Amino acid sequence: MHLSDTAEQAELRARVRAWLDEHRDEAPVLAGEGALSDPDEILAARRAWQRRLAEAGLAGATWPSEYGGRGLGPVENVIIGQEMRRAGVPGILDVIGVGMLGPTIIAHGSEEQKGRFLGPMLHGDEIWCQLFSEPAAGSDLAAVQTRARRGDGGSWTLNGQKVWTTNAQFAAYGLLLARTDPEVPKHKGMTMFIVPMDAPGVTVRGLRQISGEAEFNEVFFDDVVIPADSAVGGVDNGWSVGLTTLMFERLTIGLGGGESLGYRGERFARALADDRSARADSAVRHELGELAAELEAVRWTGYRSISALQGGQIPGPEFGLAKVTTVNCAVRAVDLIVDVLGPDALADDGEWAYVTSFLPGLKSAGGTEEILRNTIGERVLGLPPEPRLDKGVPFSELRAGERHGTAA
Ligand SMILES: Cc1cc2nc3c(=O)[nH]c(=O)nc-3n(C[C@H](O)[C@H](O)[C@H](O)COP(=O)(O)OP(=O)(O)OC[C@H]3O[C@@H](n4cnc5c(N)ncnc54)[C@H](O)[C@@H]3O)c2cc1C
Repeated sequence: MHLSDTAEQAELRARVRAWLDEHRDEAPVLAGEGALSDPDEILAARRAWQRRLAEAGLAGATWPSEYGGRGLGPVENVIIGQEMRRAGVPGILDVIGVGMLGPTIIAHGSEEQKGRFLGPMLHGDEIWCQLFSEPAAGSDLAAVQTRARRGDGGSWTLNGQKVWTTNAQFAAYGLLLARTDPEVPKHKGMTMFIVPMDAPGVTVRGLRQISGEAEFNEVFFDDVVIPADSAVGGVDNGWSVGLTTLMFERLTIGLGGGESLGYRGERFARALADDRSARADSAVRHELGELAAELEAVRWTGYRSISALQGGQIPGPEFGLAKVTTVNCAVRAVDLIVDVLGPDALADDGEWAYVTSFLPGLKSAGGTEEILRNTIGERVLGLPPEPRLDKGVPFSELRAGERHGTAA
């Protein structure tokens, strides 16, 4: 593990810091005094900020330069993230597009697709959504039932439903996993498609969360026709394309602790520091200390993983472990804060009301805790795999909705 910046990294850090010092005022204020409140204004401001960051080379920095990135490594990307947090500015709006779907198109897309879609994605002109999960296909992602049938001139007709689709309410495009051949085992007959979200037959319906926001959606496809060249990475090759997206998802949300999700021990300690009874209570101090130590361990594990990535390794299951630990610690920390500070800690406009309503969802996002533990058991600890009853069975012979082991 390399803990200090090399000369080049120190220079990058200084340049990023200087740019942020100069342009901090252009960043949208999303919390606290002077925060924007109108959803349309927030969206416009976040798009504009993403554009500024992209122009400055601070968005999609790991993308190859021919697609608008800087070809930087994962450590350099962490440095940019650290400097943005230090400057107190928000990150990009389209984390899913730039962090996960763009890299998938870079890895598997045709040159036409790369030339058409990557630039507007990076600059926030076209926001993207990930159309993978369905009511009966989440952990078992290979159970997707949305069908794509080939029609005249090679065009495709889509029918089905997706759910949990973050940002679909304002997305211009989605990357959609659909079944193209039900007569082969379920991992084999799927294809990844680029779908314009304004195509006739696409219906987006918001799902209201406990926080009052509606960041996720159900998306319905009723005889949606998309062109022949919409497939990404080849027909019936959707599973391997999807695995690329999930690998980048691990990178995007899996770095743990302070680096990706923003949950660090000091954030929770600060909330309790002003409360005299909390300071005096050794049980509170003990619990907080334990949580902070775990989060700190996750952070350093994250650095070790990033060093390994820099050395050419691909993101492994250990990234999932970081997510599980981070989310569990954050849940315990917010419970502690609410115990100590009482219901006032959950005032509507406060930080903790939002965090406490958002955290349960994070237990599922990017793989549920049980699935991640299964993966770690199998791939890290070498424990026996779960029984997989559907292995080798054509999808059409499986009972719809029946669960057979895990996805990724
Ligand atoms: C905040 C958030 C944002 C999301 N954004 C998107 C998005 O933009 N696009 C998208 O496509 N999806 C998105 N998702 C969906 C996410 O990928 C799924 O929630 C996740 O894959 C779990 O699927 P599920 O919700 O269907 O739960 P299920 O798979 O139905 O699981 C239900 C429960 O059963 C357990 N379980 C299932 N299988 C096993 C097993 N084999 N062994 C042990 N336990 C098991 C699970 O751990 C869980 O507790 C998002 C989810 C969240 C919470």
